[in-house]
Amino acid sequence: MLSLNNWRAVCEVIGHEWVLKLLENAVRKGVLSHSYLFTGPDGVGKRTLALEFARYLCCRVSLPPCGSCRDCQEILGRTHPDLKLLEPENGSIKIEQIRELHREAFLAPHRSPYRIFIISDMDKATPEAANSLLKILEEPPLHSIFLLTATSPELLLPTIVSRCQVFNLRPVPESQIQEFLEKNWGVESYKANILARLSEGCPGKAIRFIQEEELFKRREEDLEAFFYILKSDTVARLEWAGEFGKDEERLKEMLNWWILAARDMLLILEGAREKVVNADCLGKLEATAVKLGKEKTRMGLKELRSILAALHRNANLRLALDVLMLKLPGFSQEV
Ligand SMILES: [Zn+2]
Repeated sequence: MLSLNNWRAVCEVIGHEWVLKLLENAVRKGVLSHSYLFTGPDGVGKRTLALEFARYLCCRVSLPPCGSCRDCQEILGRTHPDLKLLEPENGSIKIEQIRELHREAFLAPHRSPYRIFIISDMDKATPEAANSLLKILEEPPLHSIFLLTATSPELLLPTIVSRCQVFNLRPVPESQIQEFLEKNWGVESYKANILARLSEGCPGKAIRFIQEEELFKRREEDLEAFFYILKSDTVARLEWAGEFGKDEERLKEMLNWWILAARDMLLILEGAREKVVNADCLGKLEATAVKLGKEKTRMGLKELRSILAALHRNANLRLALDVLMLKLPGFSQEV
């Protein structure tokens, strides 16, 4: 029979013990659902959890998942014949993908008790694809299990959500992410702590920082730019904005860092330094926060969030950036 400890020892799921426990109980009591939905922010571990659950269901050793049998290995390598992983293609999950899933779902499993379908980012499905999946979930084949992931259940058809057992994954505690980075990735303690803070409870984000060093470097550049903008007058700000390229994704990334920095500054001003995410820049954040003051920091944070939201609604990049330069409170004499 499955032991939670065994599961924890072989899988890469970080945190979410309560979900593992509930899934374990469901299998033990023979009350498996046909469809599960894992929701939560990017990088929190939704797909990893789905894959691990698949591994548990397909591993046939006495204490699954063993992590080393052919089934376990093939699930991890995503080559298992009874596992199908669907992801958005060119930005969305399309009707053709669900049609193919429909065909396969009714075939008998190759060698596992189940055919398992992981549908990643179901919130990116087209309406046709979502409706087509709904039809399958309404009358699912006995041997098929559907594991869906999405940022939030609100982004899916309520009729799909109501047919799934929903697990809303919460942010993983910082200390757990730090420990994972130190043990599994050999990251030194100080850096692991910074990465754990920056990941905001999402281990996937922390891993991305390790795998893409550029990302971490860009954060430093972006924070420098933020400090520069706060102390510059309008002319210098607009000049800076004029030199910014036309890469919208890059601008969104930068704004996300600015938002985190502004939030950190507010935390410092409210006496909660221990919650600061950019802990390696504490000195500079504090000096800037003191100069700007609480009221302007709060206004700035609001402006940054509203510009980012506007960009997500497809606002014009150049215009959004100029508006931000004019509206963001600062502490140059002129602003
Ligand atoms: Zn196994």
